[in-house]
Amino acid sequence: IFITFEGPDGAGKTTQLKQLAEGLKKLGHDVLVTREPGGTAISDQIRSIILDPAHKEMVDQAEVLLYAASRAQHVHQLILPALQAGRIVLCDRFIDASVAYQAYGLGIDVDQVKEISRYASSGLQATRTYILDVPVEVSLARLHHRAGSGSDAQQLDRIEQKHVDYHSRVRAGFHQIAADHPERVRVVDANRSEEEIAADIWTDCNQLLEE
Ligand code: C5P
Ligand code: MG
Repeated sequence: IFITFEGPDGAGKTTQLKQLAEGLKKLGHDVLVTREPGGTAISDQIRSIILDPAHKEMVDQAEVLLYAASRAQHVHQLILPALQAGRIVLCDRFIDASVAYQAYGLGIDVDQVKEISRYASSGLQATRTYILDVPVEVSLARLHHRAGSGSDAQQLDRIEQKHVDYHSRVRAGFHQIAADHPERVRVVDANRSEEEIAADIWTDCNQLLEE
């Protein structure tokens, strides 16, 4: 079973992923938690190229292909072997992120991005996808709060720094993806408490395990 988490930065994906992993482990499942772009040494190196705020000159084609290259290594080196070993794989972002950010966000043809992703992942699809949905103002406010304060203060990455219009197109893109794939995708209202969000995901995931 391959479960992916999608949605904007600041929606709480990482927190929810960890909680779901804990719950599944308590039930005795062997769980692998991983993330995109990243998950392997090669994929992580590609990640730092993509996200480096200094790379203002990166062209859209390079961005699409770098995500695809990162994904290809991640899928073949880590995810497929784990699935073959019967593990449950939870992944922070996957192909839908490329469709939302690169296709809908940058304005690249959706089918082209899907085709490149399909090649990179040898056709691997998520069993279930949770899109954590929050208004753009909320996710951007959380990001800027995170960037500006405290011990875990971190600089906004190259994508996070983009204009609010871009982030609005990404959110609309996620909604379109959900409408296109009702059997696989669940939109979760992430403008609620961590506990409420986790409860919804837990209920759905348990149904999925029983199928
Ligand atoms: O989720 P995480 O913070 O690790 O994602 C890293 C960055 O990459 C974020 O700014 C996210 O918006 C961006 N991203 C993207 N296209 C993807 C995957 C992630 O723009 N396909
Ligand atoms: Mg982030």
